[in-house]
Amino acid sequence: MTEALNDPEIAELVEREARRRASTIQLLAGETPPSPAVRAAEAAGPAAKYAEGYPGARYHGGCEVVDEIEQLAIDRACALFGSEYCNMQPLSGSAANLAVYAAFAQPGDPVLALRLDHGGHQTQGSRANFSGRWFSPVHYGVRRSDERIDYDELRDLALVHRPRIIAAGGAGYSRFIDYAALRAIADEAEAVLWVDAAHVAGLVAGGVAPSPVPFADAVTVATHKVLRGPRGGMILARPAHRAVLQKAVHPFVQGGPAMASIAAKAVCMRESGTVEFAAYAAMAVALAEQLCAELVERGLRIVSGGTDTHLAVIDVTGFGLTGIEAQRRLGAAGIVVDKAVLPFDPEPVTSGSAFRVGTSAAVVDGLDARDAHRLSEWIVRALHDPVGGPQHAGIRAEIAETLDG
Ligand SMILES: *Cc1c(COP(=O)(O)O)cnc(C)c1O
Repeated sequence: MTEALNDPEIAELVEREARRRASTIQLLAGETPPSPAVRAAEAAGPAAKYAEGYPGARYHGGCEVVDEIEQLAIDRACALFGSEYCNMQPLSGSAANLAVYAAFAQPGDPVLALRLDHGGHQTQGSRANFSGRWFSPVHYGVRRSDERIDYDELRDLALVHRPRIIAAGGAGYSRFIDYAALRAIADEAEAVLWVDAAHVAGLVAGGVAPSPVPFADAVTVATHKVLRGPRGGMILARPAHRAVLQKAVHPFVQGGPAMASIAAKAVCMRESGTVEFAAYAAMAVALAEQLCAELVERGLRIVSGGTDTHLAVIDVTGFGLTGIEAQRRLGAAGIVVDKAVLPFDPEPVTSGSAFRVGTSAAVVDGLDARDAHRLSEWIVRALHDPVGGPQHAGIRAEIAETLDG
């Protein structure tokens, strides 16, 4: 396949990356292999077509067929998520989030969101991101006692600071979110409720997590995470917000949409409604729950005591490790994870005291909840062995055998 690349250097690197991926257990929460049909649609789709604007109202000629592609993708997404409005054009999850700010807030406006170190996301008020630089973030967090969102604190902050937008959802929060409670708070504070469902949208599509769509003004989605679509984003929203969101995505944030990617998103929206997809989503959650239980049995602590979703944050302070050292040791054994911070972590973000796992890619690779036992054994053995130690090569070999079989 790489022969067609006609570029030996890149072909070699692409092959090496494919071998790396095939010989390791991929537990990064945001990284799930797209389905073969999604890959095919993206490769065969109209990559070059310029189609600024929206179906029926473009700035360019020759858009009559891509209009149908985009409309089909929108219709499928609306049916799948029970939404009356969808924008399929965001080029990434972050671009979708920027469009939400553009639609509902002005520079300097207060925005209330989950702290990044409590499981939020950089687009929710990090100083390193537009959201923290151009807006005035106020942050709520989780309680120390149970490491779950403190809705009382959230409400108090909303009533004091009167944010334009209240944001919920994150990259490291493993528990279901009470969207009804957030809706009530947003109404009381007269704020827009935005749910960043980058990760959880795939679980919603699979019917194993509650949907934010009935409650939120706008929901942003990363199509390449649990959804297994192409890299990209999308926005679901109440129809009343249609005009501002259409203008926010184009021309405020972006130029032309990626039409091949939108064709692949259409395929993704169809596949995500199937019973096979529901079984995959359910298994991702079952594997995560079982893995947490097994790791607890082996002496590790899970933030909030477990998970409701495909992801979990695992505290390694009990093993005398930092998050970055855990990531290195697991990596040496062929288990790919992200370092992470604990809520109220004394370590800096560059090291952290935890690592984050997500199970969706492992389920695509053929693992199921019964593999949690073995997986947890590998993880604990790998964590006890310093990089370069005697255990890692053996674990790698066992993993390669498992993934082959
Ligand atoms: C991944 C993620 C995003 C951003 O997605 P990109 O496509 O990488 O820009 C936004 N919000 C949350 C919560 C995420 O997990």
